[in-house]
Amino acid sequence: MIADQHLHLERGPYTPENYPDEWLARYLETARATGVDRLGVVEHAYRFREAHGLLPNAWADARCLYRLEPYAKFVERQRSRGLPVSFGLEMDYVPESEEGIGRFLSLYPWDFVLGSVHFVGDVGVDLAEDRARAAEIGPRAIWQRYFELSRRAAESGLFDVLTHPDLPKIFGERPSWPLTEEFERTANVLRAKDMAIECNTAGLRKPVGEIYPVPEYLAIARRAGVPVSIGSDAHEPETVGAGVDAALGLLRSVGYDQTVHFIGRRRIQADLPAGA
Ligand SMILES: [Zn+2]
Ligand SMILES: [Zn+2]
Repeated sequence: MIADQHLHLERGPYTPENYPDEWLARYLETARATGVDRLGVVEHAYRFREAHGLLPNAWADARCLYRLEPYAKFVERQRSRGLPVSFGLEMDYVPESEEGIGRFLSLYPWDFVLGSVHFVGDVGVDLAEDRARAAEIGPRAIWQRYFELSRRAAESGLFDVLTHPDLPKIFGERPSWPLTEEFERTANVLRAKDMAIECNTAGLRKPVGEIYPVPEYLAIARRAGVPVSIGSDAHEPETVGAGVDAALGLLRSVGYDQTVHFIGRRRIQADLPAGA
């Protein structure tokens, strides 16, 4: 059983008022071809007007164009068709927005909510246009702050999964000092808050050319007893299940034999398929 639990629909041909079913059908088609049994669709929360201000920066404001209701209706329609799809959100964690995030999440009965750190302050760690500002702050400060925010996201109890857990490596600049202690501290909080970590294959398609997180982090999470979900972070149908074989290999290599997916914010465990 393979569940790809991190799929964005956002490059689809929909208008803010209409999510076409045919677009999702194409995701299901690729899933069948890549051996993915279950899909987890998430839209970025910052795209919805109801979440406006929760990620307080100009980058998010410029993308805040959609209303939640058409997405919710689309979700309901797919659910009623009995498709193997879970529906959720990828929500940016911002400490100052905790209350607002809680209110926003209560607007709809999601299957699951991914908790993400993309911004350290107003610097997008995965945005090419912010690289100069990130360099000014310095890699040590960026990484330290990134892990602090990751732990606070877990402590907030708002999320089911911590996504792409070492995102600041995206452009291929790996830290020259060990992060073992940060990995351990974060894994311990995830375990304590009963939250999963994500094995995210999008890094394979980025300059860094490797899965998020590094094997050491995943091995530490495994030892701490943190469940894991798999996500391709596809933004178009062609990428559904991309890199999943590499993810399965990595998970097996650090000792995982199960992954998790979610229905109604309930975690469901599934055995990893037998592998070579
Ligand atoms: Zn993300
Ligand atoms: Zn994503």
